[in-house]
Amino acid sequence: MADLPSRAEHEGRDPLQTPLQFLKGVGPRKAADLRKAGLHMLQDLLYRFPLRYEDRSRLQPIISVRPGQTVAISGEVLQCHLQHTRRSNFRLFTALVQDASGQVQVVWPNQAFLKDVIRPHQHVVLYGRAELWGTRGLQLTDPEFEVVDTAPAAPEAPAPLHTGRIVPVYERIGTVSGNVQRRLVWQALQMLPDDMFDPVPEELLRRHQWPGRTDALRATHFPQPSATVDDLNAFATPAQRRLVFEEFFVFQSGLALRRHRNLQIRKAKPVVVSEATRTAARAVLPFPLTTGQREALREIVADQQRPWPMQRLLQGDVGAGKTIVALLAAVVAIEDGGQVALMAPTEILAEQHMRSITRMLDGTRYRVALLSGRVGAAARRTLLPAIARGEVDLVIGTHALVQEQVTFRALTLVVIDEQHRFGVMQRGELAAKGLHPDVLMMTATPIPRTLALTACGDMEVSVITGLPPGRQPIRTLVTPDARRDEVYRLLRDALTEGRQAYVVYPLVEESEKVDLRAATAMYEELAQVCAPFRAALLHGRMKGDEKDAVMRAFSSGEVPLLVSTSVVEVGVDVPNATLMVVEHAERFGLSQLHQLRGRVGRGVHPSTCVLVYQSPWSPDAQQRLSAMASTQDGFVLAERDLQIRGPGDFFGTRQSGLPQLRAGDLLRDADLLELAHTEARVRIETGHLVPAIEQYVLQVWDRQFGLIAVG
Ligand code: ADP
Ligand code: MG
Repeated sequence: MADLPSRAEHEGRDPLQTPLQFLKGVGPRKAADLRKAGLHMLQDLLYRFPLRYEDRSRLQPIISVRPGQTVAISGEVLQCHLQHTRRSNFRLFTALVQDASGQVQVVWPNQAFLKDVIRPHQHVVLYGRAELWGTRGLQLTDPEFEVVDTAPAAPEAPAPLHTGRIVPVYERIGTVSGNVQRRLVWQALQMLPDDMFDPVPEELLRRHQWPGRTDALRATHFPQPSATVDDLNAFATPAQRRLVFEEFFVFQSGLALRRHRNLQIRKAKPVVVSEATRTAARAVLPFPLTTGQREALREIVADQQRPWPMQRLLQGDVGAGKTIVALLAAVVAIEDGGQVALMAPTEILAEQHMRSITRMLDGTRYRVALLSGRVGAAARRTLLPAIARGEVDLVIGTHALVQEQVTFRALTLVVIDEQHRFGVMQRGELAAKGLHPDVLMMTATPIPRTLALTACGDMEVSVITGLPPGRQPIRTLVTPDARRDEVYRLLRDALTEGRQAYVVYPLVEESEKVDLRAATAMYEELAQVCAPFRAALLHGRMKGDEKDAVMRAFSSGEVPLLVSTSVVEVGVDVPNATLMVVEHAERFGLSQLHQLRGRVGRGVHPSTCVLVYQSPWSPDAQQRLSAMASTQDGFVLAERDLQIRGPGDFFGTRQSGLPQLRAGDLLRDADLLELAHTEARVRIETGHLVPAIEQYVLQVWDRQFGLIAVG
């Protein structure tokens, strides 16, 4: 406690920043437990909301209590005892409690200290489950209790806190039980001035008839009698929604500030698009762009021509044709004298980009190089200096690109494929290799709007709508493993017609060996079933050259059947492949399944995706597979995925850039998020955010989200 500032030193400061040790009942032990859970000051405690609420407001006459009911009762303690049992160390504290209607036996196992807390003639309120207990009749076992006629801990505390009202239920933190927290929260709330600083602009409070900050915190922890438990548990009372809005608004203001700052940055020089650039772009183009592609490209090139760096997310469903759009942006940058880096999440994908881009750039003077983890030391020794001297125009690679030794002479465009696979930090690292380069992020996992607003709310977004012409809808079949014969028939039919097929096996790291064996066995079986057509096996454990060789053989059609672990999940593009069989489909996530299905339906022939499942499958898996069967629209599936999995798991990674939300829920509170996004942007763009609020936003970002420095 010695290093704590005195209470007086805290006068005039933000009361929410008062250290928790100032609360009565928080000694060194509890303080340490709270700290461990990230709770340091009042603000941390008060913005940690109840897990749920319980209605303990209706006190029930004892006579009406039935076994099995969870009830709140109130009465006088007639007598109480500490009973020893045959087990040493195990003691029961029992009390007989009476109200005007009757009596009930109450038992607290193993809480000997209660003998100093509960005494005859005291008035108590109890909340717990009633049960029948042998000959003793009705009994409450281990109920929550509150002694109501002794002096309360804090003079202002209304009695009771824990019963006789709608009660907040908190999750235990170490030695700090839910009940103790309730008392601490109550105390903390008393320390707040009524007119505390509020990050929500007044105008918005008025417009939505939301309470001020102090009132909202009070009503959220200790609800008014007018609130219903259902509303409270749905976090739907005005006080709660206001706090949700506050959280979103502070976060969105931070994003808007970041974006605004980005607009103040000046890049080395804006890109100039000359007639030569146009000619070069036309020469590269293998097919006419779709309207959606043209529109996205127009937005991207407009960004490149601006004096501040581009921060754009290019969304488009699987197969929408993002690569060519990115490549044309690259041509624009290169023609302007810049270098371009294209980062892909896997080696296979980087290599595929290398192959297809080299093909498209055939006949141009652009110098393209691959820099993945597999480029050997010797090759690296010549490649890295060449990149540094600006002798390479386009570098395609994996995260090896962000390694420190890689330097560019004039990196002006960074393209990040499948951006959701990269953490926020990695994105920033690559951008840091140029002098404020333009950054284009691409994702084939459509991101539901609420997530996009949260994870990428500081970026501009382009969406490629529609697919290239001539695409056939994909037939999707969901089949039990028992009907494998039919699957084999489909495979043979496809191969006989000259088409190609994938059979994909799941591979999870924990059971990698077993899965690999299963995939290998499957490969051997399929090679026989499909003979004389050739089959190849592809998995992540193979050496780079082996993988390369397999992918090349499959791409060229030389090997028509590819049995693979989920390494083909993203991006792989072989238009002649028309059949995708996913084994153990129940083990894949929805976006993965969508990605896998997206490997077919890329050419002019009709395609089929067979999702083979093994029982028993979980309800979630059933939902996923039936969602797959019901639509092919990646955006619809993404929304379904969000509903099934929840926002936390959507990206499947902690590095997604999603903040840890305390009050808000991206699914439940989408309307408030939308509102917060608009209100924050408008205020910051027009310079109408109150300076004190801006200050506060920066401070919270610093402390809580820690991302504002990026970009
Ligand atoms: P994704 O958006 O999933 O990354 P790709 O960029 O890999 O999609 O493109 C998928 C396939 O569609 C590729 O074979 C590509 O050549 C082809 N493609 C892209 N745009 C067009 C277009 N405008 N017309 C015809 N084919 C196209
Ligand atoms: Mg792609």
